Amino acid sequence: MLKKLVLASGNAGKLREIQQLLSPLDIEAVPQSAFNIAEAEEPHCTFIENALAKARHASLHSGLPALADDSGICVDALQGKPGVHSARFANINNSEPKSDAKNNQALLNALANETSRSAYYYCAIVLVRHHDDPQPLIAEGIWRGEILTVPRGTGGFGYDPLFLDVASGKTGAELTPEAKNKISHRGQALQQLIKKLQDLS
Ligand code: IMP
Repeated sequence: MLKKLVLASGNAGKLREIQQLLSPLDIEAVPQSAFNIAEAEEPHCTFIENALAKARHASLHSGLPALADDSGICVDALQGKPGVHSARFANINNSEPKSDAKNNQALLNALANETSRSAYYYCAIVLVRHHDDPQPLIAEGIWRGEILTVPRGTGGFGYDPLFLDVASGKTGAELTPEAKNKISHRGQALQQLIKKLQDLS
């Protein structure tokens, strides 16, 4: 089993969730900012390719195994958008800083005339043991729900105030961090990855 890895993300919401999910394991998970590693480019059109690029970048610059998540929200009425562009939906050409508030407003605008509100969060997680690892560990998770017309809740991050988990009747921003981690795309992917890690050792 690994003892230490670098988390290839600068997203505070994601880092919080991943560190909480890894906390039962005896693994020291250090954010890439601790090594002054800049965020990697995410040029690809699939989540998995972007996750792999981020993990390899963090491992190359830290000399440690690296874990990366690439995730996003996919809306059926928008043919899967924002998808891999979720972090910059309001500003696809990258001319302004990322903004959750602007992304949420852009999503509401895009769905203004839609009655179908079904959507899902998707997460790909990759762990490389070294930067040119030929056999990265790969896991994925999906969390289905609906997009509300008005945001609710103050927890979570990103699109959580608009994302309704139908089974609980709560948005991602109304669930406690523990409850979100149990059912979320990221929680599912990380549980799958941990199982693969345990099977290796
Ligand atoms: P990336 O994986 O860093 O390219 O960005 C993922 C983006 O998807 C985030 O910036 C959020 O906008 C969105 N996202 C991914 N997972 C979640 C989540 O659990 N809650 C809310 N938004 C999320």
